[in-house]
Amino acid sequence: MALALANTPLRVVLLESGGMTFDAKTQALYAGAEVGAPYLPLDTTRMRYLGGSTNHWGGWCRPMDDIDFEERTWMPYSGWPFGRKALEPYYARAQALCEAGPFIYDKAFKWSSDQGPTIALGDGGVITRWFQFSKMRGSVLPTHFGDRYAEDLRRVPRLSTYLHANVTRLGLDGGGAKINQLDVQTLNGKRFTLKPKYTVLAMGAVEIARLMLASNDVNPAGVGNENDLVGRFFADHPIPRDTATLVLFDGKLAPFYQNNQIIHGAIMRAGLFPSEDFRRKNAVMDSSTTIENKTELDDLGKAAVAAAAAALGVDASNATAYSLGCGMEITPDPNRRFTLDTGRDALGLPRLKLHMRLADTDFARFRQTLKELGRQLLEARTGMLRLNLKTRGQWLDGLDWGNHHMGTTRMHVDPRKGVVDANLQVHGISNLFVAGSAVYPTYSAANPTVNLLALALRLVDHLKGLPR
Ligand SMILES: Cc1cc2nc3c(=O)[nH]c(=O)nc-3n(C[C@H](O)[C@H](O)[C@H](O)COP(=O)(O)OP(=O)(O)OC[C@H]3O[C@@H](n4cnc5c(N)ncnc54)[C@H](O)[C@@H]3O)c2cc1C
Repeated sequence: MALALANTPLRVVLLESGGMTFDAKTQALYAGAEVGAPYLPLDTTRMRYLGGSTNHWGGWCRPMDDIDFEERTWMPYSGWPFGRKALEPYYARAQALCEAGPFIYDKAFKWSSDQGPTIALGDGGVITRWFQFSKMRGSVLPTHFGDRYAEDLRRVPRLSTYLHANVTRLGLDGGGAKINQLDVQTLNGKRFTLKPKYTVLAMGAVEIARLMLASNDVNPAGVGNENDLVGRFFADHPIPRDTATLVLFDGKLAPFYQNNQIIHGAIMRAGLFPSEDFRRKNAVMDSSTTIENKTELDDLGKAAVAAAAAALGVDASNATAYSLGCGMEITPDPNRRFTLDTGRDALGLPRLKLHMRLADTDFARFRQTLKELGRQLLEARTGMLRLNLKTRGQWLDGLDWGNHHMGTTRMHVDPRKGVVDANLQVHGISNLFVAGSAVYPTYSAANPTVNLLALALRLVDHLKGLPR
C-alpha cells in the first residue's frame, strides 16, 4: 500500500514492529494461548518483521471465484458486500507484486498439453484447475516482500518507514468516532505518538484483532467492537494429509499435477477443484485437492483395483496409486474467536487466547467432493478413489494448516454483522481502515495473499479520494 501511494501527495508513515530479519524477542510478542481444537502456536504461524509472514510463505497463488463472494443460503454468514468484479481491476497488479508471472491460471490449458493430458474425468462436479506460484528464488523461496521491496520503499517520496516500531494503542477521541492518536513503543523502551489523519491496520488478522480489543481505554469493548464482532469468525484453511488414495489405471500422470512446472512463462501446478456449479447445487465448500507422492496399495486395495478394472473392462496392469492432499474452506463460525487473555507481553499488551473450533460438517462436505471425484474417475474408466479419512479423530490426526489467518474483522454493510464496511472502513470510526484477510466474510479455498493484495490496492484508490 505504501508503494501504491508513492505517486500521490499523501504523506505516509509505515510503522513496522520488526526489523529486516527475524528477532526472537520481537517474535515472542506474537505468543498467545489456545483452547479447543488443535491449532498452530500463535508465535510460529506468522512472522514479525518487515514483509511479515511472506518471509515464510509458500508462494501458492489463486484468485477467488464469483461464488466466493455470493450469499449462499446454506452457508451461514456468507455474502461479501461486492462481487468479484470489484477486485478484477486489481488482480494483475497484485499478481505482479507477488512476482507470480503472467495472470494465467485456468487459461493454462491452452499451453499445458505438450506436458501431457489432464486426468480424464466423467462429466460432473470436479475439474482440473491451476495454481500459480510466486517466483522461486534459489529454486525454493518465493518473494519475501520485505527483502524484495525495502529498497523501493526507501525511494518513495513522502514515506517514512520506522522499523522496531510497535503500535501499542489506537487512541480514540472522546466521542469514540475517530482515531486521534497512535501510541508506539520499541522493545528497548522508546515511546512516541503519531496523530495521523487516516490509519490503516495491516498487521495480519490475529494482531489487528488484538490491537483493536486491547485499545479499550475509551470504549471498554475496544475499538470498533460495539457489536462484539472483533476477533470472532477467525478462520484458516485446514490441510488434512492423505485424504484419499487416487489410483490411475494406466499409471500415467502429467507432471504438472505433482510438481510445479513452467507453463507459458508462469510457475504452475494443477489441482482438482469442485466447480462453481457443483458447489452451488450441492451446498459444498470450496477445496483444492492436490496429487502428492506415489503410494503402495495394501492387498485389499490391490484387490479392489483388480475387481473394478475387470468390471470396467480396462487394463490395470500399470495401475499407480497417489496420496491426495487438500486445502479446505471452512464455515464461518462466530465462536471460533480470539479474546484477550490475562498475561501480558514485553510491551504490556494483553496476550490473546484463541478459542479454536472445527465442525465435522466441514469435513463431511469435503468428502462429498471426494466422492464426486471417485464417481467421475469410474465413469471415465480412468481410475478410482479410496477415501482414507472418516472419523473426526482421523481428520484431525496430523492435520496441518495453511497459516492463512482470516475473518477477525469481517466485512459487512451492516455494522451489526461486520466490523468494516465495503470500503474497509471500521464502522463508526471515520478514519480507521483494515487491510488484509482479516476482512474476509467467507474464505474460499484460494490462497489468500494475491486476493488480499487486490483488496489492499482497491483500498488505496479509496484513500486517494478521501478529503485531506
Ligand atoms: C508458513 C506459511 C506459509 C504460507 N503460505 C502461503 C501461500 O502459499 N500462499 C498464500 O497466499 N499465503 C500463504 N501464507 C499466508 C501469507 O503469508 C499471508 O497471507 C500474508 O503474509 C498476509 O500479509 P499481511 O501483510 O496482511 O500480514 P502479515 O504478513 O502478518 O504482516 C503483518 C506485519 O505487521 C507487523 N506487525 C504486527 N504487529 C504490529 C504492531 N503492533 N505494530 C507494528 N507492526 C506490527 C508484522 O511485523 C508484519 O510485518 C503463508 C503463511 C505462512 C506463515
